[in-house]
Amino acid sequence: RAKAEGGNRYAVADPDSDARAISRHHLTHHLPAALKGAEFFIEYQPLVKMEDGSLEGAEALVRWSHPRHGVLGPDRFIPLAEHTGLIVPLGRWVLQEAVRQACQWQVRGIGGPRPLKVNVNLSPRQLHHPELVEDTVAVLEEAGLPPSSLCLKVTETAMISADENELRPLRELADLGVGIALDDFGTGYSNLANLRRLPASTLKLDRSFTQGLQRDPADPIDLKIVEGIVSLAHTLQLSVTVEGVETSAQAEQLRDLGCDSAQGWFYARPGPPERLPEAV
Ligand code: C2E
Ligand code: MG
Ligand code: MG
Repeated sequence: RAKAEGGNRYAVADPDSDARAISRHHLTHHLPAALKGAEFFIEYQPLVKMEDGSLEGAEALVRWSHPRHGVLGPDRFIPLAEHTGLIVPLGRWVLQEAVRQACQWQVRGIGGPRPLKVNVNLSPRQLHHPELVEDTVAVLEEAGLPPSSLCLKVTETAMISADENELRPLRELADLGVGIALDDFGTGYSNLANLRRLPASTLKLDRSFTQGLQRDPADPIDLKIVEGIVSLAHTLQLSVTVEGVETSAQAEQLRDLGCDSAQGWFYARPGPPERLPEAV
């Protein structure tokens, strides 16, 4: 089953056609045709409520099924798509797919009485696109998904560097009920006092913090740092999701430190949408 599968499945590609050797130029050149030719697909990773371990939602993670080089992970092509601008139509496709999928799960009652949420990554270029709000609203309406069932993930770095004008679209979406998550928190250089001006509803604690708790016993300073961030987040009325939970010890510690939700291989790896109902 999924949990038993190897680590970064896509980063370590078939050694015979070492994916690392594919040139950036080649990938960049083929991105538009790949989008047209439906070579992208989405895997979903469960989000779990720490309190009781129940399924809360899923994060949509895009992959490229390259006809010659096999499945490529997002780290291989998202930066290129961002650079060329193709991230805008690609991101719109991911959003559309993920929203449609979330609707299907909700209609089938997956996740019990609380409606499942879907998390979608937003790249800086999408954040600055003039039609972000319009597009997002149109996608939600077309599928019939309540805005509160969608959460857009924007990295701390992208959000912190945005000025008031650039934050306005996110604020509009937040006012409509769309969740906004401050992604990869702790890897950027936030002026902590600045956090309160952001339209975020969730803070996603970066995997590096989770890794810091891996030692047994965990480093007491690391524990204090996470505890401090959680307490600051809660003061600002942000819920806290932790990424990269790989062991039961980490899960227990992070729950005791007050984290609200979690995501990681300990619960489930990203997988096809059919697998979500029985993933957790
Ligand atoms: P992210 O948003 O931080 O997503 C979490 C990443 O951590 C995913 O990598 C996921 O597979 C991985 N992960 C989850 N649990 C664990 C764990 O327990 N241990 C470890 N070591 N890793 C874990 P993935 O799928 O390779 O995605 C990498 C990044 O690519 C994502 O980081 C996200 O920023 C970006 N990305 C993925 N899909 C999209 C997309 O549709 N649009 C944009 N703009 N970016 C995307
Ligand atoms: Mg992300
Ligand atoms: Mg992250």
